[in-house]
Amino acid sequence: MLKITVWNEYKHEREHEDIRKVYPEGIHTCIASFLEKEEDFIVRTATFDMPEHGLTEEVLKDTDVLIIWSHALQEEFSDMVAERVKRHVLSGMGLVALHSAHYSKIMKKLLGTTMSLKWRHDDSEKLWCIVPTHPIAAGVPEMITLPKEEMYGEFFDIPKPDDVIFTGWFSGGEVFRSGCTFSRGYGKIFYFQPGHEEYPIYYMPEIQKIICNGVRFCAPVMPERICPDCEEVKH
Ligand code: ZN
Repeated sequence: MLKITVWNEYKHEREHEDIRKVYPEGIHTCIASFLEKEEDFIVRTATFDMPEHGLTEEVLKDTDVLIIWSHALQEEFSDMVAERVKRHVLSGMGLVALHSAHYSKIMKKLLGTTMSLKWRHDDSEKLWCIVPTHPIAAGVPEMITLPKEEMYGEFFDIPKPDDVIFTGWFSGGEVFRSGCTFSRGYGKIFYFQPGHEEYPIYYMPEIQKIICNGVRFCAPVMPERICPDCEEVKH
């Protein structure tokens, strides 16, 4: 069984009526609902307002893959918790970072670059799968149309990814490395761009398939977590 924790800032959905209409119970609940349909997934959720953002040592020890969505509270996120998440990724926990979570402290700490990009509201996207042989692309169409999506464009200041599996093309002409994988320590990371909070993108079956594949890809391959600092088995 794969233990998955879906973490969401859960601010926009509570504060804006139009966003609440899209995700009445929050983005995390929407994502957890489709993940729970996978027979071998055990899913829990956590949000910013919980003590230690719900990402305690106990929760992370019991998590094979962490999914994060964040936007408005990046700076308010605890440095201590971000460092803890980083340590768990280096020790083998998988990480799937969605949409604006590129700019989270967790991603900045793990990848070491500014993570900046171009952006613009109210665009549409064609998401092209450019590595159909990659496990994250299994069962995914060659192109997915997102009728409404925020534009994220290059230059995206990330370190060179292990793989760029999806390229986004926006109606304004910009392109973006929309689905990238990275390795850090013993951990695998998948960054996936679609999912602006105003649009019902996480209800799309093709997007759900990619996130499920991303979780499976990022799952630890070693039976035990090993700290790369001390080579000690963590649990
Ligand atoms: Zn957005």
